[in-house]
Amino acid sequence: MDFRLSPQHAAFQDEVNAFVDGLPAREDPAFDEVVQRELAKRGWVALAWPKEYGGIGASPMQQMVFNEIMGYRRIRASSMGTMWVGPSLMVYGTPEQKERWLPKITTGEDVWCTLYSEPGAGSDLAALQTRAIRDGDEYVVSGQKIWTSGAHHSNWGWLAARTDPDAPKHRGISMFCLRMDSPGITIRPLVNMAGNHEFNEVFFDNVRIPASQRVGEENRGWYALAVALDFERSSIGSTSGARRSLDDFIDVVRAGTLRLTDQTRSRLTDCVIAAQVLRFVGYRIAAEQERTGTAPTLLAQMAKLCAMELNQRVTSMTMQVMGMAGQAHDPSSELDAYSQGFLRSVANTIEGGTSEIQRNVIATRGLGLPRG
Ligand SMILES: Cc1cc2nc3c(=O)[nH]c(=O)nc-3n(C[C@H](O)[C@H](O)[C@H](O)COP(=O)(O)OP(=O)(O)OC[C@H]3O[C@@H](n4cnc5c(N)ncnc54)[C@H](O)[C@@H]3O)c2cc1C
Repeated sequence: MDFRLSPQHAAFQDEVNAFVDGLPAREDPAFDEVVQRELAKRGWVALAWPKEYGGIGASPMQQMVFNEIMGYRRIRASSMGTMWVGPSLMVYGTPEQKERWLPKITTGEDVWCTLYSEPGAGSDLAALQTRAIRDGDEYVVSGQKIWTSGAHHSNWGWLAARTDPDAPKHRGISMFCLRMDSPGITIRPLVNMAGNHEFNEVFFDNVRIPASQRVGEENRGWYALAVALDFERSSIGSTSGARRSLDDFIDVVRAGTLRLTDQTRSRLTDCVIAAQVLRFVGYRIAAEQERTGTAPTLLAQMAKLCAMELNQRVTSMTMQVMGMAGQAHDPSSELDAYSQGFLRSVANTIEGGTSEIQRNVIATRGLGLPRG
């Protein structure tokens, strides 16, 4: 096995690193705008998409190289639009729908949120109750969504709603694209335990959606939803964030201000080994995808599960080593990142499907174990 990158991929790695080196300082108020503009200019917002939709048709390995650098250098380069709304539209959208929505995802003009979860439908997503009733050329939507990340910054929503309440629960769902400023939508903030407004409750009171904005066949939305969830859970290269946190922490420890016990030294080493293994798993996923043309979804799900749990191990270990100092909640202090990181990481094993559900999927679809 040869672990080295090919000369082309190594050259691309240098190019992406040089791009990041050339960005303005993170404190610069124009930072996010510059990143978005420069990524769009290079076709790097959704690297793997065809040129006509704003990508460069990158190979999985090139995508892996890019994602790894962006994750490690803490640059937010992807969005729900690029990670699962766009890829699902490419599979299920009509040519007009692709033309209408895909290019504006890569230019950053449109920002999407994901409207799946409801108070009574999270892991059991097929139990969702939000109704979409056909009325001539429109659907009328009523109901409630919850945990909608970024709804307050989004102009479009990717919605799962029930179009046939009498059909078995997986067979009465349809997918829609809707404008988030449609009359009848109310967005209420939910503040997480780190004190941040990241997600929301979204209420629909007779919201009208043109029928042309339904994606895929009526009542067959579950299949589009399953594909979108696969895209969400199989994003390659998502493990480098934990590796960066570890490297930063090791720098702090080396500087000599923190003391490690034998036990924490051993936990730190375990995390470093796990991060390195996950890195190679990421490259294996990309290599298999290049070889076979399809994503090894189960391997990618395992990588997502392990990466999320590793991140929690890293944040809890750093908190333990930092002692009382790690609990500081003061945005003006450098230490704030540790407590924020710890509090935020709790959600890692819930968002995008809980670890328990991921394990069930790996057990049944991957290992062929019988359902309980
Ligand atoms: C930070 C964050 C961002 C999110 N963003 C979005 C978003 O943008 N859009 C969106 O639609 N949703 C979003 N979600 C919601 C997320 O997808 C759900 O929280 C998740 O799917 C779990 O659903 P639930 O909260 O209803 O928990 P439940 O399904 O009620 O689960 C509760 C517990 O029971 C366990 N459990 C449930 N069923 C089983 C089973 N069959 N076997 C074993 N254990 C089981 C679960 O693992 C969990 O521990 C977000 C969540 C978080 C934390």
